[in-house]
Amino acid sequence: MLADTAIKFENMNKYFGAFHVLKDINLDVAKGERIVVCGPSGSGKSTLIRCVNALEKYQSGHLYVDGIELDETTSTIRKVRNHVGMCFQHFNLFPHLTALENCTLSPICTHKIPKADAEKQAMDYLAKVRMESFAHKYPSQLSGGQQQRVAIARSLCMQPDIMLFDEPTSALDPESISEVLDVMVDLAGGGMTMMCVTHEMGFARKVADRVVFMDAGEIVEVNDPEGFFANPQEERSAKFLKQII
Ligand code: ADP
Ligand code: MG
Repeated sequence: MLADTAIKFENMNKYFGAFHVLKDINLDVAKGERIVVCGPSGSGKSTLIRCVNALEKYQSGHLYVDGIELDETTSTIRKVRNHVGMCFQHFNLFPHLTALENCTLSPICTHKIPKADAEKQAMDYLAKVRMESFAHKYPSQLSGGQQQRVAIARSLCMQPDIMLFDEPTSALDPESISEVLDVMVDLAGGGMTMMCVTHEMGFARKVADRVVFMDAGEIVEVNDPEGFFANPQEERSAKFLKQII
């Protein structure tokens, strides 16, 4: 495996009971690469990226994250999760904690970072997502887009090498969508390895190194954004693009 590979799927298969949800997945994601995953609802996009964070088990083939093969041992899972941050559609901030406290909880409790250091770091990341002036607000006092930006800062406070996004803007109103996408564009510019499930094709065009199109549990097409949008190679990709654009 190449030293500059961040994530490697090799003939990976996953089932939910008898249902074959991920079919023979092969994909190498280089360090610093930005991948956008798209495809129809139910095609397996969430399951694919949840496997990277060991939120889902797979049944055959291999999956390596930062050179570590994901098995089911807690020590491997813990090691891999140390490298991987994840941001979902529903941000799940702790409602009884402020934005700042949401960001410092894991660094203090899991990484045993002294409180003052954790707070300083959290303020830096809150500034990065343009939320430093809301550090002492509770989630209920923030808009959806603001909460999502705090959730991104919270993930960054664990200093991941890889960030996974699963439709982070799909529950947001239009103004909030662009706030969150702007933060993700900044992050992409900073060299973070990213796998983003999104149908925000403007974002894909702007930052993706490659677009992965999935349908019915398979990776149907991997292409650069220019090629994917202008000249999709597969009939199923072309049909999907017609529906969303
Ligand atoms: P997508 O994110 O592309 O919409 P998902 O990865 O969420 O797709 O789901 C892929 C398929 O797997 C869907 O048919 C979905 O119903 C099914 N699925 C997802 N999670 C589970 C689960 N925990 N148990 C059984 N089936 C599931
Ligand atoms: Mg999904």
